[in-house]
Amino acid sequence: MTTSYPKIGGNGEANEGRVLLSQTTGFGKPAGYDPIAWQARCDLAAAYHLCNQMDLNEGICNHLTVMVPGTSDRFLCVPYGLLWDEVTASNLLMLDESGNVLEGEGEIDATAFFIHAAIHATGVVCVLHTHTPNVTALCCTEDFTLHMCHQNSLRFAGDVAYDPTFNGLVLDREEGDRLVKVMNGKRVLMHANHGVIICGDSVAEAFDDLYYLERAAEVQILAMSTGKALRIVPENVANQFLVDMKKDGGKANWAKLHFDALKRGLMRTHVGAKFCQ
Ligand SMILES: [Zn+2]
Ligand SMILES: [Zn+2]
Repeated sequence: MTTSYPKIGGNGEANEGRVLLSQTTGFGKPAGYDPIAWQARCDLAAAYHLCNQMDLNEGICNHLTVMVPGTSDRFLCVPYGLLWDEVTASNLLMLDESGNVLEGEGEIDATAFFIHAAIHATGVVCVLHTHTPNVTALCCTEDFTLHMCHQNSLRFAGDVAYDPTFNGLVLDREEGDRLVKVMNGKRVLMHANHGVIICGDSVAEAFDDLYYLERAAEVQILAMSTGKALRIVPENVANQFLVDMKKDGGKANWAKLHFDALKRGLMRTHVGAKFCQ
């Protein structure tokens, strides 16, 4: 039995005359390209490399997307088939809300389109969808709650949605819209038998969450593996923690510092430094 796997973009008439950005650039921003849109490309490409470096990705699957700054209906995504250390600022696809490829060569993975387009349509800037090992392992347990047992978990207090319904590959918009409904505006969706979706106001903020959620899940699983009961942080302490986290420019500030540091780290490696090309 074969599963029909719809193709999205990359082969329709709507794509005729699109910009093949990779042909116009060797290193750095192509002449005339909008600098803010280029920065979004660099940041998203960096996130792909970082996931690869930290073993948070899986083959050529999973997807990280970001809205093109200044638009409400265009987003960037990896072309299907690239390893994540092959991603560069210039080989990311730009797609519209119907899945037409506006810039770049290749096609978007159908599941990427149906999940990410549905979430971006609600105004979310950055959507990271991965099967990171520890968060995914939690999603494969009967009660996959992220417990408030460590300060990394507290960062996500009240902002995690849980979807116990796994319907297989997301191959239509209906399933994408269902996931949006379950998320209900929360920034994290833990999806049973599948993985995680993280939403953020920037690539930096979403990546910071991806990293710390994985750490929180890792610690929880390690703690659970002792067979001892988890020690849950009292609610008043958890609430105060969230208040304190908003000081000093809050998440937008520290996530940017974290992400900038990680990008500098990429620049020091032979493969990682390709992200901004
Ligand atoms: Zn997935
Ligand atoms: Zn995805």
